[in-house]
Amino acid sequence: MIVNNFVNGSFVASQAEDTLPVRNPATNERLATLPLTTASEVDAVVRTAQAAYPEWRSTPVVDRVQPLFRLKALLEESFEDISRTVTLECGKTLAEARGEVRRGIENVEVACGMPSLIQGWNNEDIARGIDEHMIRQPLGVVATITPFNFPAMIPLWFLPYGVATGNSFILKPSEKVPLTSQKLFGLIEQAGFPSGVVQLVNGDADVVNALIDHPLVRAISFVGSTPVAKLVYARATAKGKRAQCQGGAKNPVVIMPGVDVEGAANAMAESAFGCAGQRCLALSTAITVGDMHDPFAEAMADLATSRRVGNGLADDTEMGPVITDASRQRIEGLLAQVDDGNGRFLVDGRGRGVDGYPDGNWIHPTILNTDPGMPVAREEIFGPVLSLMRADDLDQAIDWVNDRAFGNMACLFTRDGKAAREFRHRADAGNIGINIGVAAPMAFFPFSGWNESFFGDLHAQSRHGVEFYTQTKVVVERW
Ligand code: NAD
Repeated sequence: MIVNNFVNGSFVASQAEDTLPVRNPATNERLATLPLTTASEVDAVVRTAQAAYPEWRSTPVVDRVQPLFRLKALLEESFEDISRTVTLECGKTLAEARGEVRRGIENVEVACGMPSLIQGWNNEDIARGIDEHMIRQPLGVVATITPFNFPAMIPLWFLPYGVATGNSFILKPSEKVPLTSQKLFGLIEQAGFPSGVVQLVNGDADVVNALIDHPLVRAISFVGSTPVAKLVYARATAKGKRAQCQGGAKNPVVIMPGVDVEGAANAMAESAFGCAGQRCLALSTAITVGDMHDPFAEAMADLATSRRVGNGLADDTEMGPVITDASRQRIEGLLAQVDDGNGRFLVDGRGRGVDGYPDGNWIHPTILNTDPGMPVAREEIFGPVLSLMRADDLDQAIDWVNDRAFGNMACLFTRDGKAAREFRHRADAGNIGINIGVAAPMAFFPFSGWNESFFGDLHAQSRHGVEFYTQTKVVVERW
C-alpha cells in the first residue's frame, strides 16, 4: 500500500521519489510505503488551501459545522476500523486505541458548538450613541504537525476547531503512523467539506519546514518531542506566525501516607505502563512520602511483573510494543546507564521477548529505585519505565516535582484536603490530578502543558483552540 495525500477534495499520489516504510511495531512487518512529499507539492497544497479560504470563511458558522456533525456520525460508524488501524501501526492495545478515538470524537463534538464558542463581546453606548464590538475572524491557512503516539486523537485536537472557525486546514501526521490519517481523511471525503478546506500531506521534517516557511501559512500547531517543539516554535514565530507547540514530559505522582495502596497502585500502573509508557501524560516518577515506599513498591512490582505484554490486537494483551526498534534501543541505552550494583532495578523488563513475535519492539514494564538527580529520573524515557523516589514530607516531594524541566502533569494521591490544596497551588505543571492517575483534560478544557512541555500561550482544545485559530477585530461605531 502507498500512503496518499488528500488534496483539493480527493486522495492523490505524491510524485516524490524518496520514501519511508511504515511498520507494525509488534512484528516489524512492512504495512505501507510513505512518500516524502516534495516542497513543490507542499506549495501546491497550500495554494489550494488559500484558494478555498475566501468562500469557506464567508460560509455562515452554522453551515461550517454541518460537515463536523456528519464527521462525528462517520467516526462512530468506523470506530472499530479506526481503532484497529491505530493498534496496527502504533502498537497500543485495542482498548487504548478505542480510548483515544473516543477522546478524538469528543473534540469534534465540542467544535460543533462553534456558533456559541466563536461569539465576541459588545458594549452599547461606550459613549453616548457609540457602540463597540469585538468579533473573531479566522486567520487563513493553518497547519498542524502531529506525533506518533496518538494517531487518531491528536489530529482531532486541532482539525475540528481549525475548520469550524473558518480556516483552511492542513495536517502533516507522523511518518511512523500515517495509516490512521488515511482512514480519517476517507471520512472527511464523505463529510461534505468543500474541496481544499481540509487537506493532508505526508512526509517528515522537510514537509514541516516547507509548511512553516510558506508565506501563505498563518499558524502552526505542533505536538511532539521538546527539541523539535522548540525548533518549530522558533522557526514559526521568527516568521511572525502564530504557533502552539506541545513538547515532551516527565510526569510525577506523589503518594501521601494513608492512601489506599492497592487503588493508587492500580491507577498508577495504568499511567506508567499504558500505551507502553508512550503517552505525554504517562506517569514516569512516583514519589512516596513517609513510610509509603515499601507497600507501594511491592504493589507496583506485582502489577509490573504480571502485566501481559503482546500484540495489541490480541484480546488478552495489556501492553503493546514500543514504536520502533530504534526507540527500544534508545530506552535500553538509558537503562544501561543505571548501575544495578545496589539493587536499583526492582523490576527489569529488558531482554524479555514475547512468544510468537520474535521481531517486535518489546520492553516489559520496568521499575527503578532512583535519586532525584539521576538522568533516568529527569529525562523523558517514553517507554514503560517507572522511577521510584522516597521523600520525607510533602514539602520535599513538591520541591522534587518542581525541580524538572517539564511541566505537563503532576498528580497527588492523598486523603488530606489541605495537602491537596497545597499541591494544587504549588505544583509547577499545567495539568494537575488529585487522586487520579492520568490527569488528561477533556475536550472542553485546554490541554495545559507548561515549561519545556509547551511553547506558546494558547493550548489545544476548547476555547483556547478557538482563540488560537481566530484573530480579534474591534469595531467602534456611531450611526
Ligand atoms: P517527534 O518530535 O519526533 O515528531 C513529531 C513530529 O515532528 C512528526 O510529525 C515529525 O515528522 C516532525 N519532526 C521530527 N523531527 C523534526 C524536525 N527536526 N523538524 C521539523 N519537524 C520534525 O515526536 P514523536 O516521537 O513522534 O512523538 C513523541 C513525543 O511527542 C514525546 O516527546 C511526547 O512526550 C510528545 N508528545 C507530547 C504531547 C503533549 O501534549 N505535550 C502529546 C503527545 C506526544
